Amino acid sequence: MNDGLFIEVDVDASVAGDPALAAKLAEVCPVDIFKAGASGLEIVEKNLDECTLCELCLAVGKPGQVKVRKLYDGGALLERHA
Ligand code: SF4
Repeated sequence: MNDGLFIEVDVDASVAGDPALAAKLAEVCPVDIFKAGASGLEIVEKNLDECTLCELCLAVGKPGQVKVRKLYDGGALLERHA
């Protein structure tokens, strides 16, 4: 059920499957949306709507590998371009 979700995060498989990058995401997000598990990155869905749009996660990996989508704003995308 996605009722009430305002934020969606899209993490490239090459980042999600890299333990160091997954750990970095878990470290930078102030509201614990990312969790580094034994099998790679987990998205903590119950925390998604706590996203502060701080953009710290966008700096992890190569540009465009981590994206945050604002579902309430026509799907407007936050993404790092360079
Ligand atoms: S923008 Fe900030 S709060 Fe939102 S998912 Fe990324 S690191 Fe977490």
